[in-house]
Amino acid sequence: MGLFSRNKPKIKVQMIKKDGYSGWVKCTHCNDMVHANELQQNLHCCPKCNYHYRLSASQRIQLLVDPGTFVEMFNEYKPVDPLQFVDTESYVKRIENAKKNSGRDEAAMVGSCKILGKEIALGVLDFSFMAGSMGSVVGERLTLIIEYAIAHRLPLIIISASGGARMQESALSLMQMAKTSAALAKLHEKGLPYISIMTNPTTGGVTASFASLGDIIIAEPDALIGFAGPRVVEQAMRQKLPPGAQRSEFLLEKGMIDCIVNRHQLKEKLFQLLEFLTGNERDYQEPSTYRVLYGQSLGKLPQKLKELMTLAEAETLK
Ligand SMILES: [Zn+2]
Repeated sequence: MGLFSRNKPKIKVQMIKKDGYSGWVKCTHCNDMVHANELQQNLHCCPKCNYHYRLSASQRIQLLVDPGTFVEMFNEYKPVDPLQFVDTESYVKRIENAKKNSGRDEAAMVGSCKILGKEIALGVLDFSFMAGSMGSVVGERLTLIIEYAIAHRLPLIIISASGGARMQESALSLMQMAKTSAALAKLHEKGLPYISIMTNPTTGGVTASFASLGDIIIAEPDALIGFAGPRVVEQAMRQKLPPGAQRSEFLLEKGMIDCIVNRHQLKEKLFQLLEFLTGNERDYQEPSTYRVLYGQSLGKLPQKLKELMTLAEAETLK
């Protein structure tokens, strides 16, 4: 029997992993070896270089919210395919696959919960469902939770991780930018605080709408934040971007965001901010009341300022 007449190879090629999974993974950022358990215990941040790995919506909620307090809302709104959109694959098929792979029914999860005892309205985007893109249902769920916050006078927190608007819904997904922004304007008018948390990555129509409208904008370290990706920007501008552009640290320096908070301190930081922003609760007064008191030019004045002015007036009359 000649060497070339053998039809079966003598050495069996092992097609499946029999040894089991050792648990060691290579950090994609610093290339160091990290054990999966260590990574998990460290809230999915690399213990060597502090690179913040992506979290799912449920992991986020588990990380930030008091156990057992999260009540999911508005999940009766499910994605549909209004335009019968087909690219390399039909949108219906893409939704199905995304559901199967992520175990979620849409990219947004909203509801009410407590953070160290403080009640809030919360919205979280999940990147594992079609890159956290904003379609009609994501926009609708977020708008409904904003309206819920207004109705129940709750502070609002939205955690973003998104590739932008969902192109399979075309103009319908772009309209969500205007819808969520308009709802946030109403929240602002009622004097309720909104904290936006940008995680890696927050881009496109999400950055261009609700994620950038926070009274306080927090980012995770080294998160990619921008409208278009760096390559597209470089092609459009025909010049190279400075190193680290579109990263949290660069944007903090340029004043686009307010602070960068490490995942380990995020819950505590949110509590401090909520305490600061809601500790001085007073009755809301319609802007027209201030105008009657202080004339058109003053516009909307916070209650505290109004009181101070009354005090100052009383002092001068003495
Ligand atoms: Zn690392």
